Amino acid sequence: MTRTTLVAFDLDDTLAPSKSPMDPRMSRLLSELLDIVEVCIISGGQFSQFKMQAIDNLPDSSSSHLDRLHLMPTCGTQYYRFEDSLWKQIYAENLTEDEKARALAAVEARAKELGLWEDETWGPILEDRGSQITFSALGQAAPVAAKQAWDPSGEKKNTLREAVQADLPDLEVRSGGSTSVDITRQGIDKAYGMKKLAELTGIPLDDMLFVGDRLDENGNDYPVKALGVRTHAVDDWEDTAAYLEKLIPELRNATL
Ligand SMILES: [Mg+2]
Repeated sequence: MTRTTLVAFDLDDTLAPSKSPMDPRMSRLLSELLDIVEVCIISGGQFSQFKMQAIDNLPDSSSSHLDRLHLMPTCGTQYYRFEDSLWKQIYAENLTEDEKARALAAVEARAKELGLWEDETWGPILEDRGSQITFSALGQAAPVAAKQAWDPSGEKKNTLREAVQADLPDLEVRSGGSTSVDITRQGIDKAYGMKKLAELTGIPLDDMLFVGDRLDENGNDYPVKALGVRTHAVDDWEDTAAYLEKLIPELRNATL
């Protein structure tokens, strides 16, 4: 019989609308879930995004088991736990200074060469996220409509991705959001993070359940499914909430 002692979630469009705060309904459900099992949130985004979307909207620590919450920004190359009433970074596997310098130089040179270095942007184009260098064609804070209009076919982004990858054979260059390209160490995806989580917690992958909105073959949650972890696919956060309303009583009964 399968047992579930940890439930892991993608963040964007699984727990909260894209780049937006979590709804109080989801916050309440997560709090109930934390009474029963360990919970992980894993995303390609950085900790500031976790804070704005999820952490700042959770119930206070006195009323819920925040000590059971595991946060894995940038696909688990960073790990945060709630200790002594604070969110503490337990580790961060950052790129070396040499890797960062080469990544920044390559993406800037190729973007300029391909005519993809925009003059008018919403914030900086390049961002050092420690374990990841991110290129955002229109800047981090660009409005969704502008982002969608920039490269509807994905061709610009893919051309840039390929050119930069050729310059950086020892690193991994991926398409991120609609206008972004991410550079990390090789082999960093959510499957990497889930394996790290199993090591850190001692909970076997077989006892984990993963919930995400992009478990399709081209999605950023797919590597978790390919790893063999039990998964549940959702369309959006409301779908996740409906699923949790069913799952929480089942898990509660299983622990009785
Ligand atoms: Mg998602």
